[in-house]
Amino acid sequence: MARELVMPKLGLTMKIGKIVKWYVKEGDKVASGDNIFDVENEKLTNTIQSPADGILLKVILPEGGSAPVLAPVGVLGEEGEDISAILAKAEGGAEEKPAAEAAADSAAPAAGSGNRITVIGGGPGGYVAAIRAAQLGGEVTVIEKEHLGGTCLNVGCIPTKALLHASSFEDAAREAADYGVEVTVKKLNWKKVMEKKGEIVDRLVGGVDGLLRANGVKVIEGVGRPLSAGKVEVTRADGSTEIVTGDKVIIAAGSIPAIPPIPGVKENKNCIDSTGALSLKKLPKSLLIIGGGVIGIELGSAYKAFGTEVTIIEALPKLLPMMDGELTAQLRNILEGEGIVIKTESKVMSVEDSEVGARVNVEADGQTIAYEAEKVLVAVGRRTDTAALKLDEAGIKNDRGRITVNEKQETSVPGIYAIGDCLGKVMLAHVASDQGMVAAENAMGKEAVYDGTTNPSCVYTNPEFAGVGLTEEQAKEQGLEYRVGTFPLAANGKSIIENGGVGTVKLMFGEPYGQLIGAHILGPRATEIIAECGMAIGLEATDEEMISMIHGHPTVNESVHEAALAAEKRTIHMPN
Ligand code: NAD
Repeated sequence: MARELVMPKLGLTMKIGKIVKWYVKEGDKVASGDNIFDVENEKLTNTIQSPADGILLKVILPEGGSAPVLAPVGVLGEEGEDISAILAKAEGGAEEKPAAEAAADSAAPAAGSGNRITVIGGGPGGYVAAIRAAQLGGEVTVIEKEHLGGTCLNVGCIPTKALLHASSFEDAAREAADYGVEVTVKKLNWKKVMEKKGEIVDRLVGGVDGLLRANGVKVIEGVGRPLSAGKVEVTRADGSTEIVTGDKVIIAAGSIPAIPPIPGVKENKNCIDSTGALSLKKLPKSLLIIGGGVIGIELGSAYKAFGTEVTIIEALPKLLPMMDGELTAQLRNILEGEGIVIKTESKVMSVEDSEVGARVNVEADGQTIAYEAEKVLVAVGRRTDTAALKLDEAGIKNDRGRITVNEKQETSVPGIYAIGDCLGKVMLAHVASDQGMVAAENAMGKEAVYDGTTNPSCVYTNPEFAGVGLTEEQAKEQGLEYRVGTFPLAANGKSIIENGGVGTVKLMFGEPYGQLIGAHILGPRATEIIAECGMAIGLEATDEEMISMIHGHPTVNESVHEAALAAEKRTIHMPN
């Protein structure tokens, strides 16, 4: 039966390809596996083989022609077969444009072609966008209602990592003793821990201020509200308002902790969010965490290491829903081994006052169990913080406060861009920064699109956990064919020195080309090592290419090399 020959997808990021050569002409016979045409994309050229025996009945895309991936380029079949249906379909689809082009076309022309850029929000999205726009010659104003550096620097990534670092010393002292270096940890001075965390935050916030000044960016304190691409209203703390005029606006308004409608949560003063958990006056004896996502796991790990009794209640069957299930299960075992109590498929129904602090009623397996804790950390996600922007009044399309943008980060209003957490999608500082650069470049008349393919997820547990690309669950859902290579850190010298060899590297390579489609690392410095895998995904590197890259010895990231070897069943330091 006649079949379409299609433009192959030679990697995750390929959207369009060009036929540079046909090896056969219409009417020629081909056998399965014969070279049939060469395809070129912006990164590589590949020779494509015939998927079956037959006759090349039609060349739809001639040499030199380009088409989106999966578009028909030819028809293979038997002599005399009716291929009119395939050709009609091909004609219908011929006008389809790749998503990037379509999005670019659909964006209405930008308002005002000047270079005055107003950025609403000075977090890792907004300040990066401001600096990039200034680098491109923009006259930039940042409007910030609270602190430069946003959630990340003030009440998110940075203070959490400072707490985690502080919480690691006792463990380090225990490990030191194992190495014959006996260190005595005298006592935990909680006030000093908080002061040191504050010092780090102040230093980094001051750094952002300095960077903005050095780039000639003006900062206004107040709440910004876009009226149009050319006007932003600023309301100061004393209630006075002013209008900032410009040419383009970049909204980087961030997010706030979501508080679920669980009876008793709002009323109980011992129920805190992540901001509260980062500034407790004293170390709690016990902490119950609602939500086994990134915040719950990271802060739970830190408090457990400081000596608090920690219980995590998660509604779903697994922790960290966005991470690879196999390695998440390993991490759960490690956390439980440290004494953290973890209950999955368990739902918090209500919170009541108790002498200890709070009583949390949890439903699991049809039963209600009550847990008592001094503090309850509510970590069930974050939500966009866009109410003050009055998006509907400005005509900015949004889904219940989540701003809608195209690949250029432009909203439904030409000349108004939005980035980061206020889109309500991937709430990560590094994503906001990348989108900030894309928005700034487009606002300044350059062409840029956001592509999240190489965006890593990093969880700062002990050991660290990081992933990039697809999880195995996602690859299965998408029906992809892939090969897996795993390597246990118990067989890696540097890991044995650093943490006794706890952890695993897992790589997934797509078939038939062998390009890296997903990488997951549980182990020392996983959050740093994952960048190598992100680059490999971005460059569409194959297992062969990762194998051919020489890794330093002794390093933890030799295990990435070994996992690539494992995908070809030829590891050196493990039997295959
Ligand atoms: P999250 O979405 O990562 O996890 C929330 C968890 O709470 C989910 O697993 C969900 O199933 C669970 N949950 C929801 N309602 C529940 C209920 N009633 N009972 C029990 N469980 C419930 O959210 P988060 O951990 O609050 O983090 C918020 C945001 O901040 C995320 O977007 C995260 O990516 C970001 N963040 C990132 C990092 C990092 O990159 N290292 C660190 C902290 C926060």
